[in-house]
Amino acid sequence: MNPTKTIRPTHVEISLGTIAQNFDAIRSHVSAAQVMPVVKANAYGHGIVEVSRHLAAHGATCFGVALLEEAAVLRHAGITQPILVFGGVVARQIPEFIEQDLMMAASSIDKMQQIDDAAAAAKRKARVHLKIDTGMERIGVHWYSAEKLLEASLRFRNIEIAGIYSHFASSDAEDLSSAKEQLARFLEALEFYPKHGLKPPQRHIANSGGILQLPESHLDLVRPGIMLYGVYPSREVRQSIVVKPALSWKSEVVYFKVVQPGSPVSYGGTWKSDHPVRIVTVPVGYGDGYFRALSNRSKVVIRGQQHPVVGRVCMDQFMVNLEWGSAYNGDTVTLIGDGISAQDVADWAETIPYEVITNIRSRVPRVFV
Ligand SMILES: *Cc1c(COP(=O)(O)O)cnc(C)c1O
Repeated sequence: MNPTKTIRPTHVEISLGTIAQNFDAIRSHVSAAQVMPVVKANAYGHGIVEVSRHLAAHGATCFGVALLEEAAVLRHAGITQPILVFGGVVARQIPEFIEQDLMMAASSIDKMQQIDDAAAAAKRKARVHLKIDTGMERIGVHWYSAEKLLEASLRFRNIEIAGIYSHFASSDAEDLSSAKEQLARFLEALEFYPKHGLKPPQRHIANSGGILQLPESHLDLVRPGIMLYGVYPSREVRQSIVVKPALSWKSEVVYFKVVQPGSPVSYGGTWKSDHPVRIVTVPVGYGDGYFRALSNRSKVVIRGQQHPVVGRVCMDQFMVNLEWGSAYNGDTVTLIGDGISAQDVADWAETIPYEVITNIRSRVPRVFV
């Protein structure tokens, strides 16, 4: 059997080699800064365990995830590198962070007190990155109130302050004025350290947009997510590093027919033709993460040609209009790849490429090449 064929006539193909190449391209671009691959949300749909193991073997020295559970999956898979969990922490999670030697975000003195107590009880050191809010209004202490937290952070006996970080809200935009302002606010908060004759912990703020567009934001460490997978965060972002998509999404034609003029196609009868057309059925739907919003909007590639999806995307199937083109059962249908990018699909669905790739469901088999 061809190793890229799965029993289900639909799969996602992931090139771990391409992800490693993208990682190298980022590493050489930011030379002085450490690179923290971001593998949250199942490595943006690419497979958290496979991607992280491959990058660890390729020299990654740390990882970033959103949830405690994602970090636990990495530890369970044998990843021993430092792991930072970006999200907010609730008290009952703290012992688990300490037990599994995971780095957590802290943005209040209260939280640090809880962490310090838990670490003392476990007779371990807790590792923490201080989170500064410079304009995202998500989590973090506001930059203008950060000084008290930074001061307090020095007092806790059972906490090692491993880093201090912030997050950009608009670093992938063409207009970088707000990102530059966020960076200035972060640097202002960081002045605390030299002011007290202290060396700051590891400083980081750059996501993919910052890495690509704001070299002055690279600081000590960068946190690439989407670009690691070869997808640029937006259409307008400067593509200052060349990365290649690591994922393609393929299916097969499972049915072919001629549809007569005036016969509506799919739920709700939203599409019909005024002349006979050749229509094929593809066994993928919104239950796989192919958005219903793509109904009557997206295109797929069959035999090297782009053809439109017609009628509503169903939970498990959709239809494609070949007009007079030909196709046979078993022909490959490319949903992402062969000239169709995650950004194209995002534009058709009126969303962002992040949502397109993280939305591909686990019932779509992943094939690693
Ligand atoms: C998701 C995330 C990133 C990665 O963002 P990309 O835009 O995908 O590069 C970096 N840092 C934090 C805190 C994040 O939540």
